Amino acid sequence: MNEKIVTKGICNKCKQIVSIRAAKSHITKCLNQDIEDSFDAFLIKVQWPHKNPIYWLYLSVPFKSKLEDLDLFLREIWLECCSHLSQFIINHKRYSSNFEPNSFFRFEEFSMAIRSEKVLVPGLKFTHEYDFGSTTELLLEVVGLMKTVANKEISVIIQNQEPEFKCISCGKKAKMISSTEGDCFCASCVKEEDDDELFLLPLVNSPRTGVCGYTG
Ligand SMILES: [Zn+2]
Ligand SMILES: [Zn+2]
Ligand SMILES: [Zn+2]
Repeated sequence: MNEKIVTKGICNKCKQIVSIRAAKSHITKCLNQDIEDSFDAFLIKVQWPHKNPIYWLYLSVPFKSKLEDLDLFLREIWLECCSHLSQFIINHKRYSSNFEPNSFFRFEEFSMAIRSEKVLVPGLKFTHEYDFGSTTELLLEVVGLMKTVANKEISVIIQNQEPEFKCISCGKKAKMISSTEGDCFCASCVKEEDDDELFLLPLVNSPRTGVCGYTG
C-alpha cells in the first residue's frame, strides 16, 4: 500500500472538503463553536498512521460517553473484524476491553467503563489498539472542547475521503488488497493473480483494510 497518499476530509454538516490542518478551524466556524460556557463534549482527532494520516476522523465525544462507547464507535466505523481485544493507553494506563480486576500486567490496568471526562483533557494525546496480533493502532488527540450538535452521542464531524490506491499491475483504480503482501489490484487484474496466495480482501476506507478478515 502506498502510504504517501494524503487525503482530505469531508464535513458531515456542510459537505465541504477540508484538509486535516484546516479541519479544526472549519469545525469552529461551521458548527458555531464559540459559546464556551455550553461545552459538553471533546473534539477528538483520530488518525492513522501517525506521521502521514491517510485515515483520519474528527469526532465529537460527549463528556458523559464512556471509553467503551468510543471503543465501540471505532470498531463500528473502522475496525471490527472478529471481536478481537482492544485497549486505550492514556497516560501509561491501560483501559482494556476485557478488564479483569485481579489480573497482573506490566502497566496499570483499568476498565473501559469510565466516563471520558474522568480521563480526558484538552491537549491530551493517547492511543487505541485493536487486536493484539495484527494490531491496528490509532493515535487520538483531544484538540478542543465543543458543544454537541443534534444528538448526545459520539458522532463524526469530518471523515477522510476514500483514498485512491492504484492497481500494482495496470495502474488503474484498485478494488482489492492482498492481506499477505499489502499490494492492491483492480478487478480485471485480480483474475490473473493467484487468489489463494494473496488472500484478497475488498479495499475499504479504513486503516484496517487488508488486515485479518476486515471487509468494512
Ligand atoms: Zn462544514
Ligand atoms: Zn480479525
Ligand atoms: Zn489492474
